[in-house]
Amino acid sequence: MKVLKFGGTSVGTPQRIREVAQLVTKGQEQKIIVLSAMSGTTNTLVEIAEYLYKKNPEGANTLINRLEATYQKHVEALYQTQEWKTRTLQFMHEEFAYLRSFTKVHVTSFEEKVILAQGEIISTNMMTNLLLEMNVKAILLNALDIVRTDKNAEPDFNYIKTRITSVLKDNPDYTLYITQGFICRNAYGEIDNLLRGGSDYTACLLGAALQAEEIQIWTDIDGMHNNDPRIVDHTEPVRQLHFEEAAELAYFGAKILHPTCIQPAKFAGVPVRLLNTMDPTAPGTIINNHFEHGKIKAVAAKDNITCIQIQSSRMLLAYGFLRKVFELFEVHKTSIDMICTSEVGVSVTIDNANRLPDIVDELKKYGTVNVEKDMAIVCVVGDLSSDNVGFETMACKALSQIPVRMISYGGSSHNISFLVKAEDKRRTMQALSDTLFPRTNP
Ligand code: ASP
Ligand code: MG
Repeated sequence: MKVLKFGGTSVGTPQRIREVAQLVTKGQEQKIIVLSAMSGTTNTLVEIAEYLYKKNPEGANTLINRLEATYQKHVEALYQTQEWKTRTLQFMHEEFAYLRSFTKVHVTSFEEKVILAQGEIISTNMMTNLLLEMNVKAILLNALDIVRTDKNAEPDFNYIKTRITSVLKDNPDYTLYITQGFICRNAYGEIDNLLRGGSDYTACLLGAALQAEEIQIWTDIDGMHNNDPRIVDHTEPVRQLHFEEAAELAYFGAKILHPTCIQPAKFAGVPVRLLNTMDPTAPGTIINNHFEHGKIKAVAAKDNITCIQIQSSRMLLAYGFLRKVFELFEVHKTSIDMICTSEVGVSVTIDNANRLPDIVDELKKYGTVNVEKDMAIVCVVGDLSSDNVGFETMACKALSQIPVRMISYGGSSHNISFLVKAEDKRRTMQALSDTLFPRTNP
């Protein structure tokens, strides 16, 4: 069994949906197909919920009407037969009546989650109906009956495993099992989601739960690139990544994958393949347990970083100083990305500055505090173990013209991170690319 996930742009138009249907119907093997909402839909649903929060049902209605008109056109374009057009239009009619019902009630975060869930509910219905029109043995599985989070809002892996196994056992005779990415129930049975971009997470959870042969994440780019193609010239796809390398890249800004989704696949040892719907025969990127020695894989960057430096001579030869500092971040539920220490000071970076004023205020008890905003972390991922001599020097040399604020090396054997000013991010990334990935055909 393979699990295939198609993102918003891969199902973004009726034409694309048809291409996905062609792609998944190749071969006779059973597959699970996880879909995102059509691109733009979740954003519109967020906007609808915002209008309702602000008690503006008229604004919400305008958006709902517009969205309905768009989907009616999609239905006309997608199906060949009147029968499936009528059936799907009937579904849309009920669906949009349901969305409109929220304009008459008081909307809280509970209703908001229900509204947000409709994008995936619509896209999976459209796809299932198309496959049925094509006489494919396809069935729609409701993710709300399968995926659940626990009291810490983390996926309840054992529950998911039990549910998907039993749903498949009850429905053995299908070739394609279609289900919604992103949406789930929480520990209280309410409709919830795995946060924006969470469809990848659904696919990886299901693939891990089923010990699938492979999890395929289909997007609109040929795999993970060795640097951000939107920012840097001459990037190239990376053909293989270790789970850890992929997780670091996703966390540090590579937009192609949801940062936490790699974990379940890694634990289950199920390889994840990133593929391109626009070019289905391109090799893409495989993410597995293989670690390629002596190779630097990629560069990624994370924006909106704040750096906090605490300097104190009291730290000199003292113990417990760092604990007090870190405890403060814990109290304020703010996670730290990078850390550098010296005998008389420590610098940390955070990406969520919501609690910054309180944190700074309380840190003043321990030393002189200095805050720098608008920074970026640029990280290099690959074999950076200390026995792989020379790579960190090469990375540092590449940055000889750039004022680097912090360097973190040695935290893991596959990452070196640089903190630079946001305005220097692009040239930092380009310099690293030019040095670490010499072009094969310049
Ligand atoms: N539709 C959701 C979003 O736009 C989930 C996803 O596409 O992965 O965030
Ligand atoms: Mg995505």
